[in-house]
Amino acid sequence: MISQRLVLRFALTHKRRVGGRSFRCCALVEGIVMLRTKPVLYFVVPCYNEEAVLPETSGRLIEKLKKLKEQGKIDAKSRILFVNDGSADRTWELISELHMNHETVSGISLTRNRGHQNALLAGLLYAKDHADAVISMDADLQDDIEAADEMLERYAEGCDIVYGVRNNRDTDSWFKRWSARTFYRLMSRLGVELVSDSADFRLMSRRALNGLAEFKEVNLFLRGIVPMIGLKSAKVYYKRGKRFAGESKYPLMKMISFSVEGITSLSIQPIRLITNAGILIFFASLVLLVWGIVQKMRGLTVQGWSSLIVSVWAIGGLILLSIGVIGEYIGKIYLESKKRPRFLIDEILDADGDAETQSL
Ligand code: UDP
Ligand code: MG
Repeated sequence: MISQRLVLRFALTHKRRVGGRSFRCCALVEGIVMLRTKPVLYFVVPCYNEEAVLPETSGRLIEKLKKLKEQGKIDAKSRILFVNDGSADRTWELISELHMNHETVSGISLTRNRGHQNALLAGLLYAKDHADAVISMDADLQDDIEAADEMLERYAEGCDIVYGVRNNRDTDSWFKRWSARTFYRLMSRLGVELVSDSADFRLMSRRALNGLAEFKEVNLFLRGIVPMIGLKSAKVYYKRGKRFAGESKYPLMKMISFSVEGITSLSIQPIRLITNAGILIFFASLVLLVWGIVQKMRGLTVQGWSSLIVSVWAIGGLILLSIGVIGEYIGKIYLESKKRPRFLIDEILDADGDAETQSL
């Protein structure tokens, strides 16, 4: 129903000479061209306690979807899919109301709060079976909806992943700017491929989503996984605005743990670093041993309490840190080995399938 195929028939005519006489031959060439215009597009928007922004966001998205349909850029079956991530406020009620009043609005509700990345994944995997292409974005209107046109153009040109890259950080505090820059630098040092200044605002084709579905990890860091899918990609630049209303769901501590999650779920460099530090310290201690013996033989040993205590603390700290880092990875293995579901869907509101309560 979704992939549009066009069968083109070309009649190629050419002249041939057989035995001095000339014939006109006709060969029918049939080719199948995958059409990437007018895809069924789904906007996937994870929402956690977003009652303050939802009326505005939905209004703008509905308007945009209508415009794109009128311009013939997307199929009439295109939709906006809100994912309620276990909100404690009226978010799900608002989504249900929107669904009742607008055929183009669908919603899925998770059984509880599972975090931004899992909520987004739930939306993407649901949309994968209904859409040709999906644009994921935040609920707070920080991502520029107007960039969708350019994303669709790149999609039509054959790109399977189109990253929305912010071209300014003027709206961020200096701290957020500095920490973001440090994070991207650190990640590239650790051998993790990330697209700088791109968050989770991107277009993905169904092919890319099928690829994403193959990544079964519980420790989700979508920004790091999406480039691993491969396929043809492009970037679209946009101006990132301020949160329209409500509060950021990523305060400092959550941001730090998100970064640690990103590093430890994508790179094993920190463990190697510890091994290297261990080797270095071992050689340093051998040198110290030789030096100690020489000093002893020369009768120059003094009661070096301070140097002793300093080294005890330094080594002790280093060991604790190393155990902590290794523990972080063991924790990850522990979680992965459990193979717990990354999300569970409680309810689905979709005009195609109508309201449905998932049996768990
Ligand atoms: N979000 C979510 N679950 C959470 C936290 C956040 O679905 O546990 C959603 C939130 O509703 C928003 C998006 O993730 O649509 C990004 O969150 P936010 O705008 O608060 O993050 P920031 O832009 O401040 O980094
Ligand atoms: Mg935001």
